[in-house]
Amino acid sequence: MTAIIGIYLLILGLALGSFYNVVALRVPAGESVVHPPSRCSRCGTRLGAMDMIPVLSYLFSRGRCRHCGVSVSALYPLGEAATGLLFVWVYLQTGITGQLPIGLVLVSLSVIITVADIHYMKIPNKVLLFFLPILVVLIILTPAGSLWSHLGGALAGGSILLLIVILSRGGMGMGDVKLFALFGWVIGFPNVLLALFAACLLGLLYGMILRVAGRNGRGQPIPFGPFLAAGTLIAYGYGSHIISGYLSLIG
Ligand SMILES: [Zn+2]
Repeated sequence: MTAIIGIYLLILGLALGSFYNVVALRVPAGESVVHPPSRCSRCGTRLGAMDMIPVLSYLFSRGRCRHCGVSVSALYPLGEAATGLLFVWVYLQTGITGQLPIGLVLVSLSVIITVADIHYMKIPNKVLLFFLPILVVLIILTPAGSLWSHLGGALAGGSILLLIVILSRGGMGMGDVKLFALFGWVIGFPNVLLALFAACLLGLLYGMILRVAGRNGRGQPIPFGPFLAAGTLIAYGYGSHIISGYLSLIG
């Protein structure tokens, strides 16, 4: 039973991930997510069913358009694979409980934000406004702890990032503040602090790798949304273990 549901969620995640790519790339540009149908960005050939099998189409065509040979961004298969795998990961954490839809929605928001922020260097308001009511209602229906923890997470997440925005003067945007308030609402307090710590650590690591590889000139902005999403998912999945392990270490 577990395996069948896992496989189902993997396929669902791969298919939805494909749609999330479309949402992430079209919504910030003010385009419709349903019309027009997907086309090659260079030769304009409309993509057929064979071009739209998540991950596999990309692998079989070696990352190129089958008609004109232009290379297709690796963001597409990565977004699809990440959604599929994370859906299964969430299910392994929650089982079939009220927490499952919350986890799946959290992953969905994370993937869309990550692709959009990498591509446009901004976190689209429309996406946040779409997910806000869904996550508010789901958490009120099945909170993971007390509702105060969720409220505290939203307040802490939003206010700490707001402080960082003010102090860093442009290093981060208001989109990050709103996103992290929403993430904080989902994972609650004190998980939100762990999420921010993990996000900063990952961001720092990434910046160091870029510098070592000589890829990044100083002051070139790095989108922070993907790191906030990664930190949030880490805290969502392992927060209670990490925090209790840490407390027993210092206690
Ligand atoms: Zn083409």
